[in-house]
Formats: sequence, structure tokens, C-alpha cells
Amino acid sequence: MATAVFLSFPVHGHLAPALGVVSELVRRGERVIFFATGRSRSKVEATGAEFRNYRHGHDEFNPNPPTEGLFSDMARLSALSRQLIPELLEDLAGESIDYCLIDTKSLWGRLVAQALKLRAITFSVVFAIRPGVVPPAELVNMLYGGASQEGLLRGLTAFNEYFDTVRSIDHEHATVSPGIIEYLGNPHPLNIIFTSRAFQIGEEAFGPQYKFVGPSVLPGRDAAIPFPFDKLNPALPLIYISLGTTFFQADDFYRSCFEAFADAPCQVVLSCGPGGKARFANPPENFLVEEFVPQMKLLERTSLFVTHGGMNSANEGLLLGIPLLVIPQRGDQFLVGQRVTELGAGLALHPRNADAASLRTAALRILENPSFKAGAEALGQSLRQAGGYVRAAEEILTCVGSRHASIAV
Ligand code: UDP
Repeated sequence: MATAVFLSFPVHGHLAPALGVVSELVRRGERVIFFATGRSRSKVEATGAEFRNYRHGHDEFNPNPPTEGLFSDMARLSALSRQLIPELLEDLAGESIDYCLIDTKSLWGRLVAQALKLRAITFSVVFAIRPGVVPPAELVNMLYGGASQEGLLRGLTAFNEYFDTVRSIDHEHATVSPGIIEYLGNPHPLNIIFTSRAFQIGEEAFGPQYKFVGPSVLPGRDAAIPFPFDKLNPALPLIYISLGTTFFQADDFYRSCFEAFADAPCQVVLSCGPGGKARFANPPENFLVEEFVPQMKLLERTSLFVTHGGMNSANEGLLLGIPLLVIPQRGDQFLVGQRVTELGAGLALHPRNADAASLRTAALRILENPSFKAGAEALGQSLRQAGGYVRAAEEILTCVGSRHASIAV
């Protein structure tokens, strides 16, 4: 039995795919020490891993509303890393660790692995990123192209802050912090990417150290989430709208959705996030508004998924062959929208242009044109064949040379 430490990025969308992989590793005899925050304790313990609390609360990892732009996020997470690294080194001091599992957003994970001279394996809930696939200039243009002068200035200041902070971390711990593209991809000799090769942007640039395992969804994941399925009318097409678990504070967008679809010949479910139901107590008659829905179960009934393009949501919709209308909110979600459009599995609208008329036009175009459904089905097949968390665990065990790699499943 080998011992792994998982230095997660402890927010729902990043933890969910990791839970399957960790439970499979534990099932095959590995010991996994899993760092997250208190709110995930029961989910982590259900995998059989040993839960450890980061000494920081959920909001420090995931402030609400989210920080503005990539560079601000890099500055924020480097400052958090400066605190986390010595704490983690202290917490792990008595342990004999064989390897690290880290999330792409776990800068502290990358640097703790270096400080402890451990092999690290990356889990990526976004597209794999490496130099050449997204040139830095294009990335900056995509992220800051429409920003105001003040926004741009704040971004540049944050960019400098990041480099100041990581320089001092590197000085203290003899580590080598990443530049911008490496920061995004957090590449290591083994990278588990939770989508399929067919969906990955620039997939030909990724060698065998990148394993595209598709979505990692534990069976029965949604079993305990209540939803009034009896209120769904099977005779009407269902549009499901969700901006995920981070970007849900979007009341203007939800109002545009009400206006766009109130008279449409379909039923609409809107997942609006914590606190939203009270604000939308009287939605149009054909809408059901819920704060959190059993997404996988609901998708089985869905004809069109209006999503922010978080990788989990995109994967889950496409897995079931559902075309997407992507309204990206930030960063990688723009790439998801671009890729979905390129592969004919749906359309994307910039949030600035997502008014009621454009939403309705795009939604009707997708629903009335079977080629989008066919594009989504094709990607769905690639995602279903990718192997999921079982393959991810096998790849990890092969990489770390464990004798458990070939256990039959
Ligand atoms: N999700 C859900 N019910 C909801 C909203 C979201 O089960 O009402 C799940 C969804 O199935 C997905 C995850 O939350 O697995 C969202 O992850 P994603 O990467 O799409 O977006 P994020 O929340 O990280 O922005």
C-alpha cells in the first residue's frame, strides 16, 4: 500500500471528479490523505480517504463573488499559497508520503511536492493547457480584451503581485514557481484530464503524459438531491439553465432567460444557486426555479442545456448527447464555448450579448437543427469511451509503479 496526499482545490466543481478517482484508489488499497475544507468532510470520508482540514475556510479558496479576472486570481492564490505551504509542510511532517495528487489550481500543491521532492500527478477539470496551444497574447486578449482601463490596470497590478509573491515563496522553500501558461496547466509527468481527447482543444499537442479520462461521476451521485420531477411535462422539450456553483449570482442573466423563454413552447428549469429562490418567487409559468438540482438526473430529460461551460457541466451534457448553449463567465469557459461551436455540438454567446432576443434565437436554432444534437452525440461517445475514474486510477497506479494497477474491476 502506497500513501498519496491529495492537495485539492476545495470547491465543488474541482472536488467532484476527484472523489471518484480517490475512492477507486482507496478501493485498490492505496492510502489517501485528502486536504479540503470542513464542508466537504463527509464526501471525502465516503471515499475511504483520510480527511484533513486546510487551515483556511472555503471562502478563502472561493470568495463570492469570484475575484476579478485571471491575474487577480493568481495574485490571490499565490498569497494563500504563501500561508498554506509552511502549514502543509508542518501537517505532513510525520507522514511517509509516496506521491502527491494535485489540482491544476493547487499552486501550493505543486510547490509542496517540490519542497518534499515528491512525484506529483495533476487532476485537471479544465482543458489541458500548454505553451503553443493557447499563445499568451491570445489568452490575455481573450481575458482582458473587453476590460475597462481600470480593469486592465487592476489586472496588471495583480500580475506583478503574483510574481512578487512567488519570488518570495521560491526564495524561502527553494521551489520553482510557474509562469502564466504553466500556472494554468500545472503540468506534471502524469496529467489526468477530465474530458475526452476529441473535446480537448489542440489535442494533437498533448503527448502520452496526458490521459484524457472523460467525466468522473460516481454512480448515484444525485440520489439525495430533491427535485419535483412530477412537475415536468414529458410532452414538452426541456431547457435546463445553470451557471454552475461559482458564477450563479447573475440575476440580470436569469431575467433575460425569463424574457427569452416565457412564451416558448417548452419547459425550463433554472438552477439559480443558494439564496436565489426567494428572489425569483414568481417566475414565468413554464419555469421551475431551484437553488440546486440533481443535474445528471435532470439532463436525462433535457433537450438543450444553457450552461456557463464549466468543464463538468459541459461534459455531463455532452455525455448524454445534449447540445449546449454556452454563456461563458470566465477564463476556460470561453475556450469551452469556442470548442463546442467548432465541433458543432452547440453555440456560444458572449455574456455581454446574452440578451433575451439573442438567447431565444440561439436556443431555437439549436433545438430546430438536428446537426447540433448529432455533434453532441459524437462527443458523447468519445466521453463515454474515455474510461472515467477507473481508468484514471489505473493510470495513476501504473505511473507510481504500484502492484495494484491490474486489479480486475
Ligand atoms: N451541479 C449540480 N446541480 C446544480 C448545479 C451544478 O449538480 O444545480 C453540479 C454539476 O453537475 C457539475 C458541477 O456542479 O458537476 C459544476 O461544475 P462545473 O465545472 O460545471 O462548474 P463550476 O461550478 O466549477 O463553475
